[in-house]
Amino acid sequence: MRFEYAPAPESRSVVTLRDSYGLFIGGSFVPGSSVFKTISPATEEVLAEVTHGGPEDVDRAVAAARQAYERIWSAMPGRERGKYLFRIARLIAERARELAVLETMDNGKPIRESRDVDIPLAAAHFFYHAGWADKLGYAGFGPSPRPLGVAGQVIPWNFPLLMLAWKIAPALACGNTVVLKPAETTPLTALMFAEICQQADLPPGVVNIVTGDGATGHALVAHPGIDKVAFTGSTAVGKEIARLCATDGKRVTLELGGKAANIVFDDAPVDQAVEGIVNGIFFNQGHVCCAGSRLLVQESVAGDVLAALKRRMATLRLGDPLDKNTDVGAINSRAQLEKIHLLAQAGESEGASRWSAPCQLPDRGFWFPPTVFTEVSQAHRVAREEIFGPVLSVLTFRTPAEAVQKANNTPYGLSAGVWTEKGSLILWMASRLRAGVVWANTFNRFDPSSPFGGYKESGFGREGGRHGLEAYLDVLGGGDV
Ligand code: NDP
Repeated sequence: MRFEYAPAPESRSVVTLRDSYGLFIGGSFVPGSSVFKTISPATEEVLAEVTHGGPEDVDRAVAAARQAYERIWSAMPGRERGKYLFRIARLIAERARELAVLETMDNGKPIRESRDVDIPLAAAHFFYHAGWADKLGYAGFGPSPRPLGVAGQVIPWNFPLLMLAWKIAPALACGNTVVLKPAETTPLTALMFAEICQQADLPPGVVNIVTGDGATGHALVAHPGIDKVAFTGSTAVGKEIARLCATDGKRVTLELGGKAANIVFDDAPVDQAVEGIVNGIFFNQGHVCCAGSRLLVQESVAGDVLAALKRRMATLRLGDPLDKNTDVGAINSRAQLEKIHLLAQAGESEGASRWSAPCQLPDRGFWFPPTVFTEVSQAHRVAREEIFGPVLSVLTFRTPAEAVQKANNTPYGLSAGVWTEKGSLILWMASRLRAGVVWANTFNRFDPSSPFGGYKESGFGREGGRHGLEAYLDVLGGGDV
């Protein structure tokens, strides 16, 4: 049955955009040398002008962060730092609607996701880490572990505010100060976060936001005044950063790409598994590092699962991301759309069979329909490369051992999903899958208390939970143990 939905657009009037944004350095917005425009990927309209941070701006930001670290933040008792983090968390919660609408406008993701996932989780990360700020001595790293200093943090465009929260909340809770570079295509919620820091009376220089492109990111991670680098993004850039930091002794954590297997056994409830497959790959248009982009389905139920999946995909609503009924929003940029087209074409030319959900793509903006490839072999590019779009590749298996072998046959190792009614099989699989996170009968579940990170080319280090604190504490030196 197909339901018709009346338009239910969220109002943009809750957001007050400035025409132009400076860099947030030392607690104020300051001008830089040049500007660029950020657009809505759903309409291609210009949303605001944003400053491009050059090397001299990165210098200023690092100097501000160093001064704040030495004079204020590292010496402040944890319970006082915690109060600032609680205040920031409350302000994010208070301004949640505004942040959600802005995130959707700048990123293209459905408002349902920014409202129900991104922003509540960003607030939860600050609440969670606020609680740690005065308890670091009980985190298992010695009685009074020390911070590292100034953290240089570079984040991608798929979860702009949430990735900011993953980076800034633990850094501040542990007593570090930060310079953060948001992605070029999604700087606006980071700039609204800068306003929140002002509202929270955070001491100037504790958080600095330098907008710009890859060159700005490079200037930041290469800066000699940085003690720790935290990066989320592509494996190619992650490798470059790892090489750079190997020579100058900075501490590094890298959260990179993925090609996760979502594994469905023949005893799994089909409808529930189909919801998990859809959530695994079409959530956030598939712009998710841990997306379940390879479906491994047991051969005996492959036909039933695929038929149910296509039926479900045909009901997905693609379109205006600000509409509360939208399931699939816009692709974040023209460049990303071209990459998705290229890999989808490679899938067809290598012999896989392509099926896209029947949906009307809007005339303006960047769009790609939910798509599934069958008759995929492990050698196909669509089975090996991170597409980072709403494209699922389907492979089959006969035995659990074959499922493990195929799931692990990837240079990545970020996440995996297992669908079965047998608890013993879940444990058997989880202990053999080379993935940082294994979800059982669910997918894409996140919690600030749960560490997240990868194996192999998915990077190293963990974010979230007690394990995530380690990345921002001088535990290698032993602290005050
Ligand atoms: P990048 O890795 O280029 O971008 C991630 C962040 O790093 C952005 O802030 C980017 O700036 C910055 N950056 C780019 N080059 C450098 C550099 N040399 N030194 C330091 N920082 C740098 O990813 P893309 O946006 O180009 O996406 C390409 C592919 O990467 C995607 O198709 C997807 O497969 C994968 N990806 C994976 C993500 C993940 O979560 N694992 C997230 C994003 C992408 P700017 O935005 O200005 O380029």
